[in-house]
Amino acid sequence: MLRANHHARETDALLPSVSRRFSFAAPQVREKYLIGALFVLTLVALLAPALPASTWHIPHFVDTRMWLGVPNAGDVLSNLAFLAMGAWGLLRLRAHPDAPAGAGCLFVGLILTCIGSCVYHLDPEAPQRLVADRLGMAVAFAGFLGIAASERVSVRAGQAVVVLVTVAGLLAAWVAYANLTPWVVVQFGGMALALGLAMTRPRPGALGVSLGGVIFFYVLAKLFELGDATIFEATGHIVSGHTLKHLAAALAAWPVIRALRPTDPAPSPR
Ligand SMILES: [Zn+2]
Repeated sequence: MLRANHHARETDALLPSVSRRFSFAAPQVREKYLIGALFVLTLVALLAPALPASTWHIPHFVDTRMWLGVPNAGDVLSNLAFLAMGAWGLLRLRAHPDAPAGAGCLFVGLILTCIGSCVYHLDPEAPQRLVADRLGMAVAFAGFLGIAASERVSVRAGQAVVVLVTVAGLLAAWVAYANLTPWVVVQFGGMALALGLAMTRPRPGALGVSLGGVIFFYVLAKLFELGDATIFEATGHIVSGHTLKHLAAALAAWPVIRALRPTDPAPSPR
């Protein structure tokens, strides 16, 4: 018995970083709810009737003007906002080792979204390019859900959600040309999950990311997307709804970046 205890202590000493990173304690109440919600969403994605890709593919965007030799310039160049927010976020992260799980994934996902969305909008009539657009979005979205779980449930829940939703989102984006259902579940089910998490109290030690702020910009982006032509007409052909959608979606990262602002240095003792 003594020997067994001694051995256990030795193992703990040998693997301190591992045991600190992964705690296998029994799930807390919120973790159980989260596991239940993820299980239901997975079942819906797998078992709900298949939706043909054409149900949600917007084959035509209203603003097709060329500028500086770039076709569809408004919808292409507005993606630079994703690059700017992603790079800004990664810079902030360097000074924040306490950042919630998923923050790095969100910012890398935004940079990938810039690349994928540029590729798509240069020639939106090529439907296979839509996959490139969605792959970046899937990574960014997984990062955001990871942050939400990390802020409201637990650090390990955040880490698990980042991995699960990245895999689910990439698979859903990949099969979306044949069956859109999993992608719709990732997008809307994921947002419903984020909304549910936003309505709960932050866990002790959370960084304090305004999840409501992120969701606000996300909903705004969806409204701009729906009003592509209406906004183009209303602004006298200055800007289209889809161009504004990219800007609003990029701004969704701002509440996260704001929470990662540099902390004031401790006053030096004199
Ligand atoms: Zn777009």
